[in-house]
Amino acid sequence: MKDQDSLSIAQPHPKGIDFIQKLGLVISAIGILILLVAWGGYTFQQNGLFLSLSLGTIFLGTVIYAARTYLTQPAGIHNNGIWQKSFTNRGMWGWLVGIVLTGFYVLLYWYPQYLGLAQNGEQNKGLVALFDPLSQFFKGQPASQWFMYGTIYTLLICSLGIKFMLKYRDNRYQAIRTLVVIVSQLFLAYLIPEILEGFSDSNHYFAKDIKNVWPLNYYFFQDWHLNNMLEHGGNLGMFYFVVGLFLFLVFTPIITYYVGKRWYCSWVCGCGGLAETAGDPYRHLSSKKISVWKLERWMIHGVMVLVFLMTFASLYGYFTNSVTFLGLEIYAYFQRPYGFLIGAAFSGVVGVGFYPLLGNRVWCRFGCPMAGYMGIIQRFKSRFRITTNGGQCISCGNCSTYCEMGIDVRAYAQKGQNIVRASCVGCGVCSAVCPRGVLKLENGPEEVRVKDNPILIGKEEIKMDVG
Ligand code: SF4
Ligand code: SF4
Repeated sequence: MKDQDSLSIAQPHPKGIDFIQKLGLVISAIGILILLVAWGGYTFQQNGLFLSLSLGTIFLGTVIYAARTYLTQPAGIHNNGIWQKSFTNRGMWGWLVGIVLTGFYVLLYWYPQYLGLAQNGEQNKGLVALFDPLSQFFKGQPASQWFMYGTIYTLLICSLGIKFMLKYRDNRYQAIRTLVVIVSQLFLAYLIPEILEGFSDSNHYFAKDIKNVWPLNYYFFQDWHLNNMLEHGGNLGMFYFVVGLFLFLVFTPIITYYVGKRWYCSWVCGCGGLAETAGDPYRHLSSKKISVWKLERWMIHGVMVLVFLMTFASLYGYFTNSVTFLGLEIYAYFQRPYGFLIGAAFSGVVGVGFYPLLGNRVWCRFGCPMAGYMGIIQRFKSRFRITTNGGQCISCGNCSTYCEMGIDVRAYAQKGQNIVRASCVGCGVCSAVCPRGVLKLENGPEEVRVKDNPILIGKEEIKMDVG
């Protein structure tokens, strides 16, 4: 199917916004303006006060706007006009947002001095300096660009998560899932790691990585990280090492077997959290073409091969005390290219910067090796599936349109096939937007879901019947 074919229920373009919505936008704009003024190089006399004002107004304004937008309408999913707005349909505003986001990520990863990060022992300036008081409060040191970014990231997930909960408020699965996303980001990804970093010295650098699982943390098996845990980290380092292995080898496969990869991808993961909340207006932009599905499988498994290769080279170097593998310097030829190309350029710059162009799950769909690992388990050894009551389907296409992973859900529903796809993150939005209650996310006996329900969509060459 073509990408836009699925929008077969015409929705009118919404009317303008009212006073309270405008008020919410203005309040948010004040917070954003403070960030921009700081970025422009202005130093506030009371950074702490202005930072609180900025974060507080962005949060408050977003919640006011979202509450007014969704609570004045009957419950149900409201995506009216989404294909007509320049902001959400790759129009001028969409491109502008994409370019600004991409540019921001380039600065964040490679030119943080332009965000105000201190150089050569000076003090932070600009945007990063605005976050100094909060960083001092948590860990007694000036902010880094990552602390600044983590704070803004968490703010976005919290405020836009509330917007998402209001939008999908009649759906219990979405409400609980989004609450877990917010709590996970706030505590597991932000507050606890930042506070732990304050207690850690250079010998316990690993301590802040509480989501310490390979291949998510692709550097888990790199020599500096292993040394930090095993040689300098004492009992705590050994504990982190064992827990990391346990999470990768035991916990992840078992829980993915029982509930699918959704436990991580759309409930806990920070990347998934941002995609589900800030990226929600762009979920329909994921391509549903079969050729893209094919590309997706090549790319995500290609990244898995790279992470295996890089890790194997790293472990070889660690155990043989060598800096080369197959005659190539391990850092220069394996670790650095992986960190640059996959760890930074793909997951960060493209992963978020391209939301308005390619949809909100570019990284999760095409690159994330953790998603790839869980996807293989989900596809071949899991109880998770989406069941379809084909007789009820009216082929409206809402499910396919709003599947952020580019799955043509409607094609399965029309055939009454259960959906068993490696890429499905179990967000449940296909089910939430279905007007006929056709789709149900379930965990059940795996033989039913795989043997009797082979994937039969599309051309002959991509059939994956394992029955
Ligand atoms: S198939 Fe449904 S649950 Fe799976 S990723 Fe797509 S929208 Fe989410
Ligand atoms: S499964 Fe539901 S949302 Fe999808 S095409 Fe059928 S009726 Fe529409």
